[in-house]
Order: sequence, then C-alpha cells, then structure tokens
Amino acid sequence: AKDHGRNTYRFFEAEMTERAIQRLHHETALRGALTRGELSLLYQPQVDLSTGRIQGAEALLRWTHPELGAVSPFEFIPIAEEIGLISEFGKWVLEQACLQLLAWDAEGFRVHRLAVNISVQQAERIDLVDEIREILQRAGVAPERFELEVTESMLMRNVDRVIANLSALRDLGITIAVDDFGSGFSSLGYLKTLPISRLKIDKTFVDGVTIDDNDDAIARAIIALGKALGLEVIAEGVETPEQAAFLEHEGCNEAQGYLFGRPMKPDALRQLSLERG
Ligand code: C2E
Ligand code: CA
Ligand code: CA
Ligand code: CA
Repeated sequence: AKDHGRNTYRFFEAEMTERAIQRLHHETALRGALTRGELSLLYQPQVDLSTGRIQGAEALLRWTHPELGAVSPFEFIPIAEEIGLISEFGKWVLEQACLQLLAWDAEGFRVHRLAVNISVQQAERIDLVDEIREILQRAGVAPERFELEVTESMLMRNVDRVIANLSALRDLGITIAVDDFGSGFSSLGYLKTLPISRLKIDKTFVDGVTIDDNDDAIARAIIALGKALGLEVIAEGVETPEQAAFLEHEGCNEAQGYLFGRPMKPDALRQLSLERG
C-alpha cells in the first residue's frame, strides 16, 4: 500500500511537472504572439429574437501558434492576464475591431454594434479611457458602435477605478454589457449604480432552458429583472430552436449561439447577413 501511495504520488508529480512545462511553453510562445501576427478575431452574430436579423456581433480573440495550433481562449487568456499581456492584447483587439468595422463599411455591410470583451486588468487601468478614445478617434469610428462586455465578477469587486472608467466610457457613448450574468451569485446592488445597458444571460442557464425547470425560472427572472431596470437582455450559448423560442416568449431581446452562427471570419458574417437580412 505504501508503494502504491508513492507511485501515485510520483504519477501526480510527473503530471504536474508536465503541466508546468506545457504552461511555460505557452507563456513563452504567447509573449511573441502579437508581434508574430498569430492573433486574430472571429465574429459571432447577435440576432434579434423576434425578427432573426443580425443586430451586432461579438469579437472573439483567437491565437494560432505554428506548432501548438489553435489554443483555446479559456487557456491562453488567463495566462495573458497573469503575465501582464492582456492589456496589450486588449488594445490590439480594439484596434483590429475598428479596422474591421471600417472594412465592412467600405463593403457596404453595416454592423451597427460590435461587442468586445475586456478583462479586469484593462478595466482597472488608469489610462483605459484615453486609450480607447484615441483608438476610436484615430480610426474615425463612432463610440456608439462599440459595446464592452465586462464580467459580473469584475463589477462585484466594486473597485472605484473600474466604476469611474466604465462611467467615462458610457459618457463617450460606448455601451456596457454584463457578461456571464447570473453566474456570480452577486448582490445585485451594482446594477443600479453602474452605467450598464445590457445583461447577457450566462450560457450555463441557457443550456438548461426547456429541460430544467430551475433554469427556466432563472432565465425568466433575469429577463424580468432586465426589463424592470430598463436594460436590454441577450442570451449567450443558444444552441436549439426550443431555447430560442422559450427566450423569445419570455421577452429576451437578442440571442447569440451556435443556432445562429459560430464565431466566424469577417466575410462569413457578411455572407450570413446577406442571407438573413
Ligand atoms: P465569453 O465572453 O463568455 O464568450 C462566449 C464563449 O462561448 C465563446 O468562447 C464562444 O465561442 C462560445 N460560444 C458561443 N456560442 C456558443 C454555443 O452556442 N455553444 C457553445 N458551446 N459555446 C458557444 P471562446 O471564443 O472560446 O471564448 C472564451 C472566453 O474567452 C470568452 O467567454 C471570454 O471570456 C474570453 N475572451 C475571448 N476573446 C477575448 C478578448 O478579446 N478579450 C478578453 N479579455 N477575453 C476574451
Ligand atoms: Ca463575452
Ligand atoms: Ca460566458
Ligand atoms: Ca465571459
């Protein structure tokens, strides 16, 4: 039994080491990702549930390394946050998103609203507002066309700097959406003090909708809460027509998910929009 225990330990140790090494590889590779041009954005449509029309899109970051291949954002974003790269990446995302809006404009494809994710490090930066203002001004893109998605957990921490930044961005005309809404078990007090325009129902609830009565109730409650507070509500991770029908019936404004389109290249979004109107 003793030997067995030791072997188990060795096994864990080996696995830990392997993971640490892999992690180190990722770190090193990630540091050069931007300059080597390995980052890109995909765009996932956000549709009006009652008309099916594309109202906007969310820009989602992708990293493709020549040897590692496509690394999931769930893997590389936390690393980028930890090693202090996320602000640089975030700036690139905004610049790239602006360029894409302009390129679509030039093609006669009007994307009214582009949502971009920002991480907590970015939200806390003292120069965030100036940086975003400059990027938009330089590109000549109206701030009203941008939405920033901030996670519920970020708002719960109630950091003065974050609140000040988001308020200033809202004053510029940028809208703020609460991502993963409902996942944070938070007190809801921040909803009345923060400059928020939209709630995004977390995928974990959307997954269970029409299958699990509790998820039905939670989704229904979030939609009602949004309505009562004068906020738009969008659902993420919608995969089935049943989920879409339920959400629409409950008064959810918009939806995003594989049912309507996966994150896709810019041309594919334009094509989809031509088909859907
Ligand atoms: P998120 O912001 O909650 O984005 C939604 C994620 O769900 C995306 O994963 C999207 O591809 C996926 N998704 C959308 N619809 C469906 C569906 O119907 N079914 C399923 N199974 N999945 C769906 P992705 O692109 O892998 O991004 C993962 C997370 O990485 C994002 O979660 C976001 O937190 C983060 N992320 C992505 N891009 C950026 C970025 O530019 N900056 C920052 N800070 N974070 C980002
Ligand atoms: Ca998001
Ligand atoms: Ca989510
Ligand atoms: Ca999220």
